[in-house]
Amino acid sequence: MLKNSKNSLFGLPEEVKFCKNCVESNQRFMGSAQLNIKKDDTKEGVDFDDEGVCLSCRYFEKKEKFNWNDREKELKDILNKHRKSDGSYDILLPGSGGKDSQFLSYILKYKYKMNPLTITWAPNMYTDIGYKNFNTWISNGFDNILFTPNTKVHKKLTQLAFKNLLHPFQPFTIGQYNLAPKIALQYGIKLIVTGDAYVEKGVGGKIHKEKKTSSELYSIEKNKQTDIYFGGVHISELDKYGISKRDLNQYLPITKEKIEESGLERINLPHYINYNPQNNYYFCVEKMGFKPNPDGRSEGTYTKYSSLDDKIDCLHHYTWFIKTGRGRATDDAAIEIRNKIITRDEGVALVKKFDGEKPKKYLRDILNYLSLNETEFEEIIDKFRSPHLWEKIKGKWHLKHAVWK
Ligand SMILES: [Zn+2]
Repeated sequence: MLKNSKNSLFGLPEEVKFCKNCVESNQRFMGSAQLNIKKDDTKEGVDFDDEGVCLSCRYFEKKEKFNWNDREKELKDILNKHRKSDGSYDILLPGSGGKDSQFLSYILKYKYKMNPLTITWAPNMYTDIGYKNFNTWISNGFDNILFTPNTKVHKKLTQLAFKNLLHPFQPFTIGQYNLAPKIALQYGIKLIVTGDAYVEKGVGGKIHKEKKTSSELYSIEKNKQTDIYFGGVHISELDKYGISKRDLNQYLPITKEKIEESGLERINLPHYINYNPQNNYYFCVEKMGFKPNPDGRSEGTYTKYSSLDDKIDCLHHYTWFIKTGRGRATDDAAIEIRNKIITRDEGVALVKKFDGEKPKKYLRDILNYLSLNETEFEEIIDKFRSPHLWEKIKGKWHLKHAVWK
């Protein structure tokens, strides 16, 4: 089930290090969320240089010297190449209606005068605030296709992903990711625009390039379509869990050949325009009527404006904390330090205070969704505590290493 060394799960480095500039650790890794739908071992992790600084912090140093005028011009050229005059959609924007998708769609439609089609893969369980923001988004002048997967199948896949990988978001991420090119091709759209800034978020600089092509991102070679894992289970074994091949149709990536033949392109807006999550939030409150988390902050962190739409969001971040020893507050503080919104000392204090908070608000809903009682839930979680990160003292789990220790 798991790639295992003596002391560390998932192939994580046994020596824990923290970046000298931000609060990120070398334990962060990119799960099997996208096309390498195999097992949850480390593929793309955070890299540090010889001075102990993570490559995402180094990327921000480079970013300060970018010529944003040149980059915007490059963006305009790409948009003009795809611009249509017959009234049909010219770009596809995948999103949830959160602050990033609202920002992206607003500037593409109202500043650059494109005609976007937006698409959404429905969350596992909408929160009230998430559903409100989704509707606010659409009411600001955007056509949207909301794809809601078969709940019976999606629940089963989520349960498997939680039990086998401690990755309850895996089916959602796979579905959301692979939906975009399919819809684009159906509507004759040749450009997908996203706002993912992985290179900025500490998911490594070595492997994560600033730009990737559509065929690298969205497709799979034809002969590999039968060799895929969902929730840690090989596709050929899923019928044992009552999931047939046709149930998986919407989750499967399209073939490399199909993408290359169609000429579908994908661009990532942070490569062309200088923005950050906090500015997006202020922008969307003012221009669109976006509302933050009514509780004042999200569980596991101090911010109130990211990943609000799914009741499982807080569990998703909590599972990463269990697997890597760094959670949602680390994510938020690292990016705010890199954007010079807070200092490292402030970041360290925020991580100490909020990282790893167990989900409370939606715990009942989550347990129902996963068909587990709280004891079973805890037992699964404890299986994913790597010995190099966790120790049990007097019946309570403690992190061996933390940025604040
Ligand atoms: Zn750093």
